[in-house]
Amino acid sequence: MKSFREECAVFGAWGDAEAARMTYLGLYAQQHRGQESAGIVSLSGSTLLTHKGMGLVGDVFKESDLIRLEGQAAIGHVRYSTSGESDNLNVQPLHAQLFNGPVALAHNGNLVNSDALKERLKSEGAIFQGTTDTESILHLVAKNPSSDIMKCLGDSLPLLEGAFSLVVLTHDRLICARDPQGFRPLVIGKRPMGDGSFSWVVASETCAFDLIGAQFYREVSPGEMVYFDDEGEHSMRFAPESKKLSKCVFEHVYFARPDSKVFGLSVYESRKKMGEILARESGVDADLVIPVPDSGVPAAIGFSRASGIPFELGIIRNHYIGRTFIQPSQSIRSFGVKIKLNPQSEILKGKRVVVIDDSLVRGTTSQKIIRLVRQAGASEVHFRIASPPTTGPCYYGVDTPKKSQLIAARQSLEEIKDYIDADSLSYLSIEGMMEAVKGDKSQFCAACFDGDYPTPLPEENSNE
Ligand code: AMP
Repeated sequence: MKSFREECAVFGAWGDAEAARMTYLGLYAQQHRGQESAGIVSLSGSTLLTHKGMGLVGDVFKESDLIRLEGQAAIGHVRYSTSGESDNLNVQPLHAQLFNGPVALAHNGNLVNSDALKERLKSEGAIFQGTTDTESILHLVAKNPSSDIMKCLGDSLPLLEGAFSLVVLTHDRLICARDPQGFRPLVIGKRPMGDGSFSWVVASETCAFDLIGAQFYREVSPGEMVYFDDEGEHSMRFAPESKKLSKCVFEHVYFARPDSKVFGLSVYESRKKMGEILARESGVDADLVIPVPDSGVPAAIGFSRASGIPFELGIIRNHYIGRTFIQPSQSIRSFGVKIKLNPQSEILKGKRVVVIDDSLVRGTTSQKIIRLVRQAGASEVHFRIASPPTTGPCYYGVDTPKKSQLIAARQSLEEIKDYIDADSLSYLSIEGMMEAVKGDKSQFCAACFDGDYPTPLPEENSNE
C-alpha cells in the first residue's frame, strides 16, 4: 500500500450550539487547502455523527446534513490528494469506536514514517481500510491500554515522524495537537456567543475565524496538545520545546490564503515583501508590472512599489474554473490555462512587461502565460518569481510534484528562460525569502527550495 501526499485543512469547534455549521463555514473558508473531499463529525450527547464525501464543501453538505449533525462540538476536514488515490475510505475525519469510546480524527500534514508504522501495526494485527497515513495514528491510539485518551495520544504522537496538525473529537473533549517541528499551522480562536461567553474554535488558518466572527487567541505550539472540555482549555506537552523548527515556508509563498496570519505573520504582507525584495534583487527596466492572477498579486504590488514601475491587471482571470493544478492530466492542464486567463491587449500592447508569479513548478503555466502576453502585443516579457527555484518534492503535506517533473531540478536558469520563452527570468533568493518571512533556517523548512529536508525521507520516495 502506498501512502500519498495530502494538502488539507482542519477545523474544530467546542461549546457551540451550531458547532457543525461553524465547522462547515470554517471548511468553506479553507477550501483552497483541499478540494477533493470534505467531512464533518459532530458530538451529539456522547455519540459521534458523521457526514463526509467526495467534492467541494458546498457540494458535500446539504442543509439536511447540517441539521442532522447536531451537538455542541464538531471537527471537519478538507483534502486534496493526487489523482488515482482518491477513495471514500480515505475521506476524513476518520471515525472509530475504541476501548475508551468513540474517537474521530482529522489530520493536516504528511508522515514520513507511515510505511514503517503501518507494517509494524499490521504485523501486530491491525486492519487498515484506506491508504491514508492518518489511519496509523488511530491504530496507535486504539492499541494503547490506557482509558485516558490524553495518555493514549501522548504515547502515540512521539512515534510519528513528519508533519501533523491534528484535531480529535471524543465523547467529552476536543483535542488539537501539532508536531514538534511545527510544519503546518494550527491556530486557536474564541467565538463570542453574544451572552458574554465564547466557544472554542481551532483551524489550520485564521481566515476561517474571520468568516465566523471568531477572534484569534493563539497558535498551538509545536509539540503541544491542547484540549477543550466543559472546564475550558487545558494544555499538555507530548514533546519538549525545540529551538529548531520546520515551519513550512511554502505556506507563505503560495499555499495559505493571503488574508490569513500564518506562524504569526500576515501572508499578504510577507508576499508583498517577497515582491519588494525581488525588485531589489533583480529589477529590470520595464513599463508595467503585472501579476499572474491570483497567486502573484501581492508580490506584484510589492515589486511595483519597490521598483516604481506601474502595476496593472494585465491578465484577467475567470474565477469559475478551479486551479489548473488540480486537473488530472497534462492535456487538461494546458487547456485550463487558456480558459482561465485572458490577457488585455489594450494594456499590454507595445509594452515592456514584468510578469510576477509566486512560484514556478513545472514551467507549463508560465510558458502558456508568456505566450498569451506576447500574443496580446507585449514587446518584452520579463518573468520574475517571488520564491527560489523549486527543486525538490515536499514530503510534509504540500503536493509538489516529483523531482523529475520540477523544471528547476533538471534545467539551468538560462534553459528555463528559453523553455518558457521569457526575455529574462529571475527568482527570489533563499535569503530574500527568509527576510520576507522574518525568519531563518533554524525556524523554517524550505526543503522544496534548498533540498535540506528536516527529517529522514520515506524510503520509496528518497530518490525521486
Ligand atoms: P507550473 O510551473 O506550470 O507547474 O505552475 C506553477 C503555478 O502553480 C504557480 O503559479 C503556483 O501559483 C501554482 N502552484 C505551485 N505549487 C502548487 C501546489 N502545490 N498546489 C497548487 N498549485 C501550485
